[in-house]
Amino acid sequence: MAVCTGCSLLCDDIELEFEDGKISLTKNLCRKGEGRYRSLREDRLVPAVDGAKVGFDEAISRAAELLGDAENPLLFGWSNSSLEAQRIGIDLAKKLGATIDDTSSFCQGYLMEKVLRGEYPTCTLDEVRNFADVLIYWGSDPSSSQPRHMSRFSYFPRGEKRQRGYDEDRTAIAIDVRKSPTVVIAADGFFRIPPGGDAEFIEALLAALGGKIPKVKDKKMKKKILKLGSTLRKAEFGVVFPGLGLIYSLKDEIDKLTPLITRLNEVSSYKLIPMVGHYNMRGFNQTLLEETGHINRVSFKDGVEHGTQFAVTEAVNDCDALMVIGSDLISALPAAISKKLARIPTVAIDPHRNLTTDMARVTIPSAISGLEAGGSALRMDGVKVEFEPVIKSGYRSDVEILSRIMEAV
Ligand code: SF4
Repeated sequence: MAVCTGCSLLCDDIELEFEDGKISLTKNLCRKGEGRYRSLREDRLVPAVDGAKVGFDEAISRAAELLGDAENPLLFGWSNSSLEAQRIGIDLAKKLGATIDDTSSFCQGYLMEKVLRGEYPTCTLDEVRNFADVLIYWGSDPSSSQPRHMSRFSYFPRGEKRQRGYDEDRTAIAIDVRKSPTVVIAADGFFRIPPGGDAEFIEALLAALGGKIPKVKDKKMKKKILKLGSTLRKAEFGVVFPGLGLIYSLKDEIDKLTPLITRLNEVSSYKLIPMVGHYNMRGFNQTLLEETGHINRVSFKDGVEHGTQFAVTEAVNDCDALMVIGSDLISALPAAISKKLARIPTVAIDPHRNLTTDMARVTIPSAISGLEAGGSALRMDGVKVEFEPVIKSGYRSDVEILSRIMEAV
């Protein structure tokens, strides 16, 4: 069996057939995973310096030069790298006295930190499959982002204590601003809220859980929230799956989620699993936490420092060299910040071309994890998954690339 690294579910039941050393048939991949496999043949990056193709060794030595000469290098990405590569990346940041940050810095970081520090109760996806009876998809759309989430773990499968099938044994609730593909599945439990309305919804739900009338103008919605309060109270094993919709809506008010999680655990038993997108974001957060006491936004310039000034969105103002690994930073950030990036000498390590690699001074192509390179990663629920390469290729793994840069700086 192969492991798909197309998202943070790290599906480990992928069956493959080969013809002439090439994959001729795949089983159990979702459409996103299929795309990952197809990308083996699409838009691969080449080693280059200032737009001119060079050999691998030349690209490594120019990357080392660029990073080694910098006063304030910034190393960013990491959520699409194996645990082994992340560890070397952290050591490289230490050696360079660099700032290191990852994609969690502007997405699931807050919730992941709460989970990793044990402040929010959590569980594994296997426990969800076996025991969960109430599922809350809040600002998340697994049908699009983690397409096998509902079929392998959360809604459809039968489990140890959930033998009668999803229609009798599980209640799916979707809270969202739009009718996403997940909402279509959880149609009976859909709560459409206005953009930015999550904080108000949390307050209404807290009132309903406390036996009070929620302060909601819409009478139908008021009734629905009261009924939801009663459903949530009756749960045996509830799980909240928060997505970016919730995080971006709450913004600075994200702390408002804490009293709700506390209250849910007073009336019943509820867990939370952040709906991480990239296959090993959790791995980076956990590894950096073990090394430094922080999950992201760390500078090694003067010992270990942590703060919002070391978030990639701020650190780009002061950095004089940037290394991006496994991320299209330019596409991910607002245009004003992306413009700043275009002026910073950048090393980009990635299997594929993207906007960031197109503007980078040095590009280094890498192998695709789970297909061309082995290693291990942490699934969105923290379960460690190991993977082997399934095909031979000339591309180097992130581990090899980072080790070479480390030796050269
Ligand atoms: S759900 Fe995610 S890990 Fe599983 S096959 Fe699809 S993309 Fe790959």
